[in-house]
Amino acid sequence: MIAPDIASPDVTRHILKSFGLRASKRLGQNFLIDASVVKDIVAAAEIAEGDAVLEIGPGIGTLTQGLAESGAKVTAVELDKKLPAVLAETLGAYDNVRVVRGDILKTDIRALMENAPFKVAANLPYYITTPILLALLEQRLPITHIVTMVQKEVAERMIAEPGSKIYGALSVAVQYHTEPRIVREVAPRSFIPAPEVASAVIACRKRSAPPVETSDERMFFRVVRASFGQRRKTLANALLGVGVSKEAVRCALEAAGIDAKRRGETLSLAEFARLSDAFSAGKAEDDRRETHDL
Ligand code: SAM
Repeated sequence: MIAPDIASPDVTRHILKSFGLRASKRLGQNFLIDASVVKDIVAAAEIAEGDAVLEIGPGIGTLTQGLAESGAKVTAVELDKKLPAVLAETLGAYDNVRVVRGDILKTDIRALMENAPFKVAANLPYYITTPILLALLEQRLPITHIVTMVQKEVAERMIAEPGSKIYGALSVAVQYHTEPRIVREVAPRSFIPAPEVASAVIACRKRSAPPVETSDERMFFRVVRASFGQRRKTLANALLGVGVSKEAVRCALEAAGIDAKRRGETLSLAEFARLSDAFSAGKAEDDRRETHDL
């Protein structure tokens, strides 16, 4: 086993050197070397002894060690073929860590976590942050907390309010499913190698129920995607992306009491819900008429 705190420049350099490793840019490898960040991620995840935690991309085991020390039962999914052998040594002292080699985007997370409640903690690879977050949110997994390091700009998008330039489909998905808060910013010097961008730790506590009611959640997200798909278009045009006629879009906007000239980025979650329900009601009415005409 290697020294207690992997989260230091000296220990990290020593591990990289001993195993002949070079951080892979392609895999988004920036290893944490700041113990205070590890501590803050573990604290934000509110880990109690025995909690199941999924870590995405353990790297050489820096955050994994903090999670294991807190008494969590850690399952760490790592894509890099070279790293499981390294982790077997750096985390050799812990019997509460399981390392799984694989791509998190191709992993059956529900089966891996045995369909029981779990938390997610990660210093995410930045090249696939959004697909990973959306996968975690959309799969209806029994997650209670997601605490991750992301690019600062992504953290800001996750908490953005309607009307701001950075408010988008990611903001709506995160805020619909969770209550996000930025825990802290993290400077590039907290990693080896230093990334080109500033980072932030964001903690998202899963909501027990969505903040707005919709009759059809799939329709809600179809409307959100269409509204942001064509950011520069007015809703009247962007909403054609829902796959309905111009007339159906006009009727839905009117029924929801939303000005057709507005843009998607100005709509609150409650307005998206109203609009989505208006589309669902319009569709139900069309279906009813079709059946009647038969
Ligand atoms: N957790 C370590 C730390 O904090 O120092 C490493 C974080 S590094 C930013 C991201 C890690 O994710 C790397 O170890 C990388 O190999 C891994 N990774 C990249 N793509 C992945 C994927 N699709 N599935 C699982 N792990 C991945």
